[in-house]
Amino acid sequence: MVFGPVPNRSYHEAFMRNAIEMAEFALASDETPVGCVFVHNGEIIGRGINGTNASLNGTRHAEFVALAEIMAKHPQSILRETDLYVTVEPCIMCASALRQYGIRTVYFGCLNDRFGGCGGVMNMHSDAGVDKPYPVYGGIFREEAIMLLRRFYVQENEKGKLVMTVSDKGRIAALCILNLDDRSLTGLFPWDST
Ligand SMILES: [Zn+2]
Repeated sequence: MVFGPVPNRSYHEAFMRNAIEMAEFALASDETPVGCVFVHNGEIIGRGINGTNASLNGTRHAEFVALAEIMAKHPQSILRETDLYVTVEPCIMCASALRQYGIRTVYFGCLNDRFGGCGGVMNMHSDAGVDKPYPVYGGIFREEAIMLLRRFYVQENEKGKLVMTVSDKGRIAALCILNLDDRSLTGLFPWDST
C-alpha cells in the first residue's frame, strides 16, 4: 500500500534527492546512512542525519535531529503544513512522534522491515488513535536508499575496530547535538557553503 503511485512524483523526487544527499553525508560521517528534509511551502525548513553513533544517544534519529532545528525557529503548528522526505521508513518511535507533532505527509525511500512505524512493522501513521493520521508514500529512490545502507555495513565490516579520533567525534557530535545555527559551526556542513 505504501508503495502505491505517488502523485506529482517528480516534485517529490527533487526533495528526496536532498534527503539522499543527507544520507550520503551520514555515511561519510560513519553514521547509519539515513537522511531527511522537512519541506514547508516548497522550502526546506529542517535537515537531519542519523546521529546515534557520535552522540551515543539512541533517540538521535534523523527526524528528531531535524525536528529540533525546526522547533527552535517555528511554532509546532507549522508541521501541519509540512511534509517529511526521509530515505528510510520512519521507525516506530519517530512515526509516533510525527503523528503527535501533526506532520502533513511522509515520503520515504525504502521500508524499515525491523522497526518501521509506517507500514513496515507497525502502522503508527494510520492506526486508531487520538492524533490525526497522516498519509505515507514509500519507494521514492528506494534502491538508492538500500544501496547506501549496504555500503554502510560493508564499510563498517572493513573498518573493524577502527576508533574515531576525538576531533572526528566532536565534529560529528556537534552536527547532531548543537544548534545548527551556531556561528562557530559555520562551514562544518555541506549545506553551509552559500
Ligand atoms: Zn526513528
